[in-house]
Amino acid sequence: MPRTLFDDDDAPREWEVAAEADRTIAKVVFSQPPDDVFEYVVPEALRDIIQPGQRVKVPLGRGNRPVTGYCVDVAARAETSRQLKAIAEVRDRRPLLSREMLDLARWIADRYLCTWGQVLESVIPAGVKKQAGTREIVCYQLVPPTTGASPAKLSKKQQAVLDVLAASTEPMPVGELTEKADCGTAPIQALVEKRLIRPLRIRKDWFNIDDAPVAKSQDLTLNPEQHTALEEILRSLRNNEHRTFLLHGVTGSGKTEVYIQAIREVVAYGKQAIVLVPEISLTPQTIRRFRSRFDAVAVLHSHLSDSERHYHWQQIQSGDVQVIVGARSAIFAPTKRLGLIVIDEEHETTFKQQSVPRYHARDVARERARRESIPLVLGSATPTLESLQRTKDGHDTLLRLTHRVEHRPLPPVLIVDVRNDPIVTKGHSIGRALQSSMNVALKEGGQVILFLNLRGYSTVLWCPRCNAGVRCPHCDITLTWHRDRKKVLCHSCEYSADAYTACPHCGQPGLRYFGAGTQRLEDEVKAKFADYKVLRMDSDSMQKPGSHDEALSKFRDGEVDILLGTQMIAKGLDFPNVTLVGVVAADTMLHQPDLRAAERTFQLIAQVAGRTGRGDKQGRVFVQTCCPDEPVITLASKHDYFTFAEMELRHRKERAAPPFAALARVIVRSATEQQAHQESVNLAERFRAEINRLQLPIKLIGPAPCPILRLRGQHRFHFQMSTASAETFQVLWREVSRKIKLPEGVEFVMDVDPLDMR
Ligand code: ADP
Ligand code: ZN
Repeated sequence: MPRTLFDDDDAPREWEVAAEADRTIAKVVFSQPPDDVFEYVVPEALRDIIQPGQRVKVPLGRGNRPVTGYCVDVAARAETSRQLKAIAEVRDRRPLLSREMLDLARWIADRYLCTWGQVLESVIPAGVKKQAGTREIVCYQLVPPTTGASPAKLSKKQQAVLDVLAASTEPMPVGELTEKADCGTAPIQALVEKRLIRPLRIRKDWFNIDDAPVAKSQDLTLNPEQHTALEEILRSLRNNEHRTFLLHGVTGSGKTEVYIQAIREVVAYGKQAIVLVPEISLTPQTIRRFRSRFDAVAVLHSHLSDSERHYHWQQIQSGDVQVIVGARSAIFAPTKRLGLIVIDEEHETTFKQQSVPRYHARDVARERARRESIPLVLGSATPTLESLQRTKDGHDTLLRLTHRVEHRPLPPVLIVDVRNDPIVTKGHSIGRALQSSMNVALKEGGQVILFLNLRGYSTVLWCPRCNAGVRCPHCDITLTWHRDRKKVLCHSCEYSADAYTACPHCGQPGLRYFGAGTQRLEDEVKAKFADYKVLRMDSDSMQKPGSHDEALSKFRDGEVDILLGTQMIAKGLDFPNVTLVGVVAADTMLHQPDLRAAERTFQLIAQVAGRTGRGDKQGRVFVQTCCPDEPVITLASKHDYFTFAEMELRHRKERAAPPFAALARVIVRSATEQQAHQESVNLAERFRAEINRLQLPIKLIGPAPCPILRLRGQHRFHFQMSTASAETFQVLWREVSRKIKLPEGVEFVMDVDPLDMR
């Protein structure tokens, strides 16, 4: 609705300090230190305005520096007897977050050992804070003539303005009007005074909101396993009880159809559902699938503009949206009445945020679902051992879809030992067996996917004299040669350099390029399969927005025969005509110093294998490896998740590793190695002293240099703490956090439940 210029309801801005006697107290937190909850007096004039969830401007510290904070509570009396300062300004007309979400933010701060203010700062999108897209512009429209009024005398310019407006069906922005009538604002003002036209404030509307209509489609008839799974979820929905379900189903077993039909019921109750997917699966294919079943779907991906995000936030808050499909941060969607949360591909590491607050969306989802008494469904073909163990302990419920829909077989997976392959030993990536299978598949009109988890051309630039890879000057990572850009690049920082002709360490000429990345693989494939169209997908080739979707639709339409790429192509895609998938090097992840190396390798092979045999045609998978007897690889080739999980769980239990222990990792960073080392020793001592004093059952190991000692010019040392339950860390943190003092230039990172151990 357009509003006229004159009904402005802007809140006043400056307020006097309130009198002492009759007090309303606001509790305020900040995104920067100090970390406490501060109390402020709410002046009389702001009492009817202030609500928890709004931002306020308050004086802070001795100098009364004006600072913006979040009001987290309003109370009738103060907890402290200290003299209190007064709120200066309420910055938002409406609360940005509900009380429930404020409380959830508090829980996140406690769980991940950061501050309430830090969580609020991160959870509320920037576009919502600055009300992006709601700026109002002044437009003009004609006033309908009143009968009997004598026509006013008009200047030529004024008449031109009237003519332009008469020809327009909509109110016209002032800029457009002056341009079309070729005049300044004086004639417009004169017409307003004569009451022939009137000004309107119109919200500069949100543009590019993509909700083009999609053809609606019917729900499918579920098979018995899907039906059983759905019934279990619905039972918990109908009883308004929180339960977490782990829906294990091989790729293509119809998990998504189960989510959709559960959401159908949620929507029928007038409630909303949140579906979290990895960012990489937020493809048009996924979006279309939800849009074809529900009328009001909001899609929250990382490329939204501020005003788009704000638009969706408001739509969700008003209850107009039925289903929210989004990446990690969509777990904070401000739904009016939440009925269900689904996390698809729950094993994906992108659900963990790698900056403060370092939350895992799965654990936040569980807490949110518990607080709102609703079910949470976690779906995966390769669930994390954390989620599986919870079902074994009886906390969560395991639901299983044991075969693909319509009894399509899972593809046979062949392990190809390439240690003695004559072609591979000559430096090629595609061995004899894979090459001849590709030929057969392509001749039969099928498509091929090749997966290689290394980008670039040569993955290692090798100096024979140092007998070592050439490293980034800022990071302890070997540089990668990118032939298309004619540069060596570091994959951890922005460092790039022209091709080295000699080793930068010893000056030896004749560096050798070892190991094949996707670019080199592309050359090899093009040379060996000259009659076929090849497309490479990795973060280098897919930098333009939209290129990802474009490439996938080319492949789907059959314009491309061979798709090769990094993990970008391993996830969630459904191509019926793919009859062969090749994993070029299955060992790339296996030998990393990471407690989850085996789990990740298993997930990768299983996911990649899921890309074939989805249609009527049979598919095959070739896994090239130098460790053909590794149990991870043999079990993945048999699609045997449960045997693998049992084996790996036993192994973790012996080592008291997650899911049998909670971990926290502390990293200390500094520009100099000596300082990083010294401060990590000091910090670890501080932690140890408190652990001993409080007699906490926490084991502290380290400090030690991080596996990547130098990253982006910072030297890094870390230590690790483990204990039975993460709550024990909170006890420690309450004592220790106030006592940490680090010199200028030294930073520390606290990572609870770390996934990245580098
Ligand atoms: P998942 O999420 O487990 O990978 P999907 O839900 O995507 O599996 O299902 C795979 C394919 O099978 C999709 O094309 C889907 O439309 C189809 N499908 C799912 N359930 C059924 C069913 N009950 N009957 C027929 N087709 C189904
Ligand atoms: Zn670097």
